[in-house]
Amino acid sequence: MKNYKNLLEQSNLKTTPQRLAILKELDKHGHASIEEIYENIKEMFPSISLATIYKNISALKDENVISEICLHQKPKFEIQKEPHAHFICKKCGKVEDVPFSEMMSKELEKKYPDSKKELYIYGICSECKKK
Ligand SMILES: [Zn+2]
Ligand SMILES: [Zn+2]
Repeated sequence: MKNYKNLLEQSNLKTTPQRLAILKELDKHGHASIEEIYENIKEMFPSISLATIYKNISALKDENVISEICLHQKPKFEIQKEPHAHFICKKCGKVEDVPFSEMMSKELEKKYPDSKKELYIYGICSECKKK
């Protein structure tokens, strides 16, 4: 379990229970959309609205605490980490992290310095293949 409070203290954002809950959700699920976060934390914060989560997500994104994954579906968010690729299941929409090999990271960095590396792999996940 990560220290979410630390993540927020390193940014310019105030630590609020809502922000901690959002980070906890992202850590738990790896990748989640605003709607998914809302569904999961509204019980804990009955007065929270989608708009509030949206605002907090934007703030966390601006401070580079989390990053947005642009999918061919609803955007999902994750806590900022090492560059990695994403596997996206075309059937169920599941998102999995795929590590870059060190060689690939170096190669990409050399060729495209100062650029944001986003790599997506589309296919059918093992769960859906079983069905
Ligand atoms: Zn699937
Ligand atoms: Zn990821």
